[in-house]
This record gives sequence, C-alpha cells and structure tokens, in this order.
Amino acid sequence: MGLDGAWAIAWMRGSAAVVAEHRVELITLDRDIGDGDHGENLDRGFSAILPKLDEQPADATPADILKLAATTLISTVGGASGPLYGTALLKASIAVAGQEDLDADAVVALLTAARDGIVLRGKAEVGDKTMIDAWTPAVDAASSAAAGGESPARVLAAAADAAWGGAAATEPLVARKGRASYLGERAVGHRDPGAQSTSYLLQAAAAAAGEGAA
Ligand code: ADP
Ligand code: MG
Repeated sequence: MGLDGAWAIAWMRGSAAVVAEHRVELITLDRDIGDGDHGENLDRGFSAILPKLDEQPADATPADILKLAATTLISTVGGASGPLYGTALLKASIAVAGQEDLDADAVVALLTAARDGIVLRGKAEVGDKTMIDAWTPAVDAASSAAAGGESPARVLAAAADAAWGGAAATEPLVARKGRASYLGERAVGHRDPGAQSTSYLLQAAAAAAGEGAA
C-alpha cells in the first residue's frame, strides 16, 4: 500500500512530537558545538505546523502537506536548520507533486530530493559533520530497500536506521560547515545536532507509515 496525505500529516504530527520530546537533548547537543538553539528552533517550527494540519482538506496530497510544512519552517525558524529543512521539504514536495499514493520509488525520490535540497542550500558533503551525514546514508539505504522490493514503510524504516548510524558517525569528525566548524578539533567527540534531529524526523516518517515507534 502506498503512502497518502494522511501519512504525510501523521509524519508531520509525529515529527512535532518527537522534536518536543527530544528538545532538551537537541539543545544540549547544539550547546556543545553550536549556540544551543537547535531543539528550540525545531520545536517552534514543528509546533507552528500543527494547527495548520487540522485545516487541510481530506484530499490533500503528500506534496500539499510537505509544502505547507516547508513554508512554515522557513518562515518560523531562525537559524540554519529552518531554511535547510524547509528547502528539503519543499524539494521533496516538488518531487512527488500530484501523486496521491507514494510507492517505494516515490519515497526514494522524496528523500533524494530532500537531501539534494539541503546540499543545494548548504553545500555540505558527507563527512562535514552536518545533517547530510544522516541524510545521505538514509537515501542510499532507502534506494537499496526499494530496489530489493521493500514496501514504502520498510523503505522509510531502512532510511531511519541508516540515519541513526550516520548521526553516530559524526561524533569523531571535525566540522567543516555550520557553527561547529568554528571549533576545529574541539568539535571532536560530539554528535552533530542536525544529524540527530534528521534521525528523529525519519524515524517519525517510518512510524507514521506503521514501521517502528516514534
Ligand atoms: P544554527 O547553526 O544557525 O544555530 P541550528 O542550531 O538550528 O542552526 O542547526 C544546526 C544544524 O544545522 C547543524 O547541526 C547541522 O546539522 C546543520 N547545518 C548547519 N550548516 C549546514 C550546512 N551548510 N549544510 C548542512 N547542514 C548544516
Ligand atoms: Mg544552533
């Protein structure tokens, strides 16, 4: 079964919940190697999306929901992560425009477009200690899962698992992008907050599709 507008709504609600639940953790990670606002930034952004979801028509497509979330994040979140996640969701929305039910390949297209949007905006590469270190393994795992005939939900679960691995792998890295790059070697030993929040957001996407707990 494909993933419809109700899935996208559930993903955004789940994202708001998981970001609220891990707000302090994300703040602490960002305090270690940034300015300590990542959890607050995302909590503000996803909280602002929630009331708008209630106003969506029953026939809203995933693209409609993603676009709504994108514009809300861009307009409510200060800091790097608002425009980065906003661009990700906007590009994702364009990638699945007009589709009512997303199959596994459409999910891969959505995730790929999101990752490419972040790269377009932030110019980070894998190994720069940013959210791209979670997104790129997630896209690769999703692509392999879809090629192996997995369901859209399993594709998302594979993406979320790989994002966790990617987030953990940021710990030994020196940052080359974002505020953490000002710290040089002092960033070593700390996990990138954006890579961690990416893991939570992809976990919420899989949970909304019925795979795993958010
Ligand atoms: P700010 O750094 O402006 O305070 P946030 O704290 O909300 O914004 O977000 C920080 C996160 O944004 C970092 O942990 C990193 O994952 C991500 N980030 C910062 N710059 C870039 C970039 N150029 N490309 C990709 N991700 C980035
Ligand atoms: Mg910050």
